[in-house]
Amino acid sequence: MQYVEPAPINRNDDDPYESMMQRFEVAAKILGLDEGTFDYLKTPQMQVTVSIPIKLDDGTIKVFEGLRVIHSSVRGPSKGGIRYHPDVNIQEVKALAAWMTWKCAVVNIPFGGAKGGVICDPRKLTRVELEKITRRYTSKLFDVFGPERDIPAPDVNTDEQIMGWIMDTYSMHCRHTENAIVTGKPADLGGSVGRREATGRGVRIVAEAAMEQVGLKPEGTTIAIQGFGNVGSVAAAEFVEIGAKVIAISDVTGAYYNKNGINIQKALEHQKKHDGLLTDLPGAEKITNEELLELDCDILAPCALENVINAKNADRIKAKIIVEGANGPTTAKADDILDKNGILVVPDILANAGGVSVSYFEWVQNRIGYFWSLDDVNARLHRILTEAYEAVRTRSERHEVNMRIGAYILAIERVANTLRLRGIYG
Ligand code: GLU
Repeated sequence: MQYVEPAPINRNDDDPYESMMQRFEVAAKILGLDEGTFDYLKTPQMQVTVSIPIKLDDGTIKVFEGLRVIHSSVRGPSKGGIRYHPDVNIQEVKALAAWMTWKCAVVNIPFGGAKGGVICDPRKLTRVELEKITRRYTSKLFDVFGPERDIPAPDVNTDEQIMGWIMDTYSMHCRHTENAIVTGKPADLGGSVGRREATGRGVRIVAEAAMEQVGLKPEGTTIAIQGFGNVGSVAAAEFVEIGAKVIAISDVTGAYYNKNGINIQKALEHQKKHDGLLTDLPGAEKITNEELLELDCDILAPCALENVINAKNADRIKAKIIVEGANGPTTAKADDILDKNGILVVPDILANAGGVSVSYFEWVQNRIGYFWSLDDVNARLHRILTEAYEAVRTRSERHEVNMRIGAYILAIERVANTLRLRGIYG
């Protein structure tokens, strides 16, 4: 049966799940996906909500809410990070989980997709309170997680130490050290070298492929990076390495611009001294995050949260290339405007797939109990991403669609094919 056009529903451009579904529908239609497979692939396999009561440092009890959505385990155990943020909600986590499925398929690693989150503001919590939240969340999800089942990782506001607590809590419950339960751990707990840098490094690798595609040389290429967390800060340092000029960076304190280039090493030192923030970064003009997005530059890399490039500002974006370090930074409506303006968008499910690729390496190393060198990790990462870039580009040229739809086509092709081979038990 041929795919049938769904009844038009009131699309909300700000809803990440709707944004994901719109692209999925376009790609599914191009592929001629049958209705049953379409329904199978769009529906999350499992959605779990847990309460997380902890005793705060002042002795009072506070209950947080934790979520985990398993979108798919068709191609292997589900994989995806956990974010700690006050705006975490089920629509967002559902979208992020589906994006993980497509992302793992784009880079052709044997994982499905999942995502989790805890609704909390980590800036208002102490490390002790964060540890309690992490351990209680992990113990509540003990039956969901598993090295062969569902493997968490870092995401927004979660770091190596938090992954270490997850590993320890899970191991306490299963009565042996199980380091393959989580990726992005500290190296001393079985983490892979190069994992922390992998997403930012991947952003640079795919940006180089995009530069080659449009005929830009790295030397002197101007880059604006929105977000200076684990992804944006590493990407910035990587861009400097290849001779590009990072003219703007930003975080929650605002954006910082210098047309001659920001000294990234100094910015990192400044950030360390200022509680992880860029507060009043010297040697740069202060602008807003919105202004940063609209700067005259060659490459724009949104590396923070969803929906920052939307129908309101897409027409004012001047970059030639957008490389999506974040998940879902561009809404579906914005895609049309960027297309019309001839901007090459390297989509999130390709551009930030470096992180999960090295998570895969970490999981493999944990399971064989043998660890690779940084050169090995980086060489394999480079190969995975450049091959994925070519595969996406081929799909986009073959079907005359943008790189995002090309990436969805590739992902759906791979997941649907595995599903066809496995068959339906029922
Ligand atoms: N949270 C990261 C992402 O969105 C990494 C996920 C992982 O390594 O499993 O891709």
